[in-house]
Amino acid sequence: MINYANDDYIVRASAKSGLIRGFAMRSTGLVEEARRLHDLCPTATIALGQLLTATALLGQDLKTDDASLTLNTRGDGPLSTLLTVGDRSGEVRGFADPPAVETIYTEDGRIDIARALGSGTLTLSRDDGLEREAYASSVKLTGEGISTDIGSYLLNSAQIPSVVALGVKLDQEGVKHAGGMIVQLMPGWDEPLADWLEVRAGGFPDITYWFEEGMNPHQLLDLLLGDPEINYADPVRASYRCNCSEQRMLDNLFTLPAGDLNELIDDPNGVDINCHFCNRHYHFGQADLIAVREARSSTD
Ligand SMILES: [Zn+2]
Repeated sequence: MINYANDDYIVRASAKSGLIRGFAMRSTGLVEEARRLHDLCPTATIALGQLLTATALLGQDLKTDDASLTLNTRGDGPLSTLLTVGDRSGEVRGFADPPAVETIYTEDGRIDIARALGSGTLTLSRDDGLEREAYASSVKLTGEGISTDIGSYLLNSAQIPSVVALGVKLDQEGVKHAGGMIVQLMPGWDEPLADWLEVRAGGFPDITYWFEEGMNPHQLLDLLLGDPEINYADPVRASYRCNCSEQRMLDNLFTLPAGDLNELIDDPNGVDINCHFCNRHYHFGQADLIAVREARSSTD
């Protein structure tokens, strides 16, 4: 059972006779887990937290359980790379590189995420879990923050007019509230409906304000859309989860060029690897590496 008042979860809704669909989530726990695992600074916590939230929300629209979604920002600002991966189960993982940067503030005293990212691109890639090649598409970072960047991607690459609101609020201990909402116009929408949604969303306070007021993700969609006929789908629990394992790490070594592998094998101390997504530490001794080399030569 999901506790709507506290748990991280995603809910999807349909309103206005199916012409609007919305996704809303609380991600406080999973963003705090990302902060703790990677020892993120405030800027990286907010930025990665927003991208993880967007990944979980967009993951709900994947067509199969095997499909996965990757969001990746690359920019010339101090927070040069963010990468997040998710699927429709609600599980997400990611990292920020570097994990800590000096805080830049906006004129009104908020942490400036757009300047931390700088100029660059947001790329979304989708792997449908089949043999087909992953689909990838990029947009330029807007300079107005990650919510606007995701909205720009959805409008320009996916041709879906969308309202995107992502929020992470910190306190002395870490993440106080985090969450997000994506609301989209579906085929058949008209200008009056688009104008109506724009006005509603324009005056809507930050997501974390509503959480502070004790609202849950269902109530966020209800408040924004104001439709007594709103339909909710079954909510999905959301969490931070890495799927790394000793076997996966060995499989990665397997894909190294032969020269690089031989170089690793020459080191009597073996090799130490940290998982990018969860910082779990793996050690492989020389014998493990030689076994990888032998396994590979037998498949060549
Ligand atoms: Zn891991």
